[in-house]
This record gives sequence, C-alpha cells and structure tokens, in this order.
Amino acid sequence: MQSFIKDIDLLIEAFARLPGIGIKSAQRLAFHILDSKQTEVEVFANALLNAKKNIRYCQICGNLTDSSSCKICLSPKRVKTQIMVLEQAKDVFVVERSNVYNGLYHVLHGAISPLDGVGPDDLSIKSLLARLDNIKEVILATNPTVEGDATAMYLARLINPLGIKVTRIARGVPMGGDIEYVDQNTLEKALEGRLII
Ligand SMILES: [Zn+2]
Repeated sequence: MQSFIKDIDLLIEAFARLPGIGIKSAQRLAFHILDSKQTEVEVFANALLNAKKNIRYCQICGNLTDSSSCKICLSPKRVKTQIMVLEQAKDVFVVERSNVYNGLYHVLHGAISPLDGVGPDDLSIKSLLARLDNIKEVILATNPTVEGDATAMYLARLINPLGIKVTRIARGVPMGGDIEYVDQNTLEKALEGRLII
C-alpha cells in the first residue's frame, strides 16, 4: 500500500528493510511515528544516529564497544587464558547475559560459506591467531550449522598444531539454531559438555 505522500512512503520503506518487519508492520510503525510527539521522534532518531556513530568493533576481539577496546578485553577479572570464538558480536551479549563464562572472546564476523562466497580471509581469523600467546584453551562456539561446523573444523586444524587445547561446545542447541536463541540453561550445558576436537 502506498500513501502517495513521498515522505510517508520513504518511512514505510525504511522500516520494511529491517529484519523481521513485513510491510504491514512497517506501515504501523510509520504511522505510529507520525502520531508521536516531535521530541519523542528526535530521541529515537538521535539514538539511531549516535549508536551508529559511536559504536565500533573492539580492536582486540571484534566485540561491539564505544571505545577502542571493549570492557571485557580490558577487565582484570576475566580469565585471560581462555578465548571463546563466536560468529557475531550479538552472540557475545547472549553468552554474557547467561553468566556461564568468564574468559575472553573473539568475534569472527561470519562463518566460512563457499556458497555465499565467504572464505577464511573474509573472517577475523588472522587477528585470532595473533592473540594465542599464553592462551590455554580456544572454545569454538560458532553456530551448529553446516557453515559454523566447517568454520570450527577449519580453526581446529589451524590451532591444534600450536599445542593449545581446542574445544567445541556441545550440541545442546537445535540443528540450524543460532546461539542467539539459546537460553541460559542450554548454553550452560553446551559449555559444560564441550569436547576436545
Ligand atoms: Zn574486546
């Protein structure tokens, strides 16, 4: 449905481009914005712009941060001999929220997927290998998908010869399910049941 008013249609299109938002939801959100107070819309617009402007990837681990290094990398309370490897920065939030892990992270920003043209060089693998001095265990927590498994196997082959323990989290998650949707209990079991690969 077009309103035939350019700025309304552009707003609907912008919402419809967001993940999980269909055209009907996009219309509802757009009309909600138009019905909102000017100050509320400004707070919303500024939140979008400021998050995009101020948030970047941690130069050490690839997690999201508002400074050059993230709080986890800088924290003296974290176990500095363990690195958990994840596909996306949003996965760090999931694991942190579950309170089951106190080591460091490394975010790959994707998984190896030849069909999508994503190879090892497209991921943050070199920076992971550069962090492995003094590391005793690398926990591969990529998603339990074909791509996540392929990435875990690739990393295990690279890291095993270095004499570092490499583990893969157990399959407590449904096949094809993302780390993102895992609850605390499942994540705890998946971590406890991790196996050396
Ligand atoms: Zn970091």
